[in-house]
Amino acid sequence: MIGQRDTVSGAHFAFTDRWGGVSAVPYEELNLGGAVGDDPGAVGANRELAAKSLGIDPARVVWMNQVHGADVAVVDGPWGSAAEIPAVDAVVTARRGLALAVLTADCVPVLLADPVAGVAAAAHAGRPGMLKGVVPAAVRAMRSLGADPARIVARTGPAVCGRCYEVPDAMRAEVAAAEPAAHAETSWGTPAVDVCAGVHAQLERLGVRDRQQSPVCTRESDDHFSYRRNRTTGRLAGYVWLD
Ligand SMILES: [Zn+2]
Repeated sequence: MIGQRDTVSGAHFAFTDRWGGVSAVPYEELNLGGAVGDDPGAVGANRELAAKSLGIDPARVVWMNQVHGADVAVVDGPWGSAAEIPAVDAVVTARRGLALAVLTADCVPVLLADPVAGVAAAAHAGRPGMLKGVVPAAVRAMRSLGADPARIVARTGPAVCGRCYEVPDAMRAEVAAAEPAAHAETSWGTPAVDVCAGVHAQLERLGVRDRQQSPVCTRESDDHFSYRRNRTTGRLAGYVWLD
């Protein structure tokens, strides 16, 4: 259910694994994504189970319509209806008690919080979003609400690792030209990119020092959903909220 959890000065960070939910194959068990072909009733039940396990109100969780971009929404409450959910890849709030959620299956889920300012953010950083700067955009939005990068706590969750994310040589060259830290090689010796390393390099340059990276590679872990391994599969969620 909740694979990793961490609390720093009243800022809560959590990442799910794939177990403990009600979804059927191939979304078994805890699929939290509403746009992957799973039964909406099962997804709703899973979101309630995950929220209960975290001790938060499932009605006070803000989801995104993720599109691999770099747009950010500042929110102070849940969306009124599914139709209101904007196409963004980061959400930021200064509302304590409001949980922000990001869905992934190989992309990097990025959770950020400044516990002093009371500002939190969740971002979805795949290869395109990392290159477009969704994480720096989220930090800019946090700063506009009073956050200080020196106080921001950053946690990145389970994602495909640089030894598994094979890409064509030209794509690696393009990515590395924009973000040298993302240059990688697969365990079988072919060109690869390490999106999570790129995200952490961006955060480092922004002055975010308190960072931790999940040791889990989604493609290698049978306890996590992986798009690159299974194509039709569920989505994991990362949650951040402030007391
Ligand atoms: Zn891996």
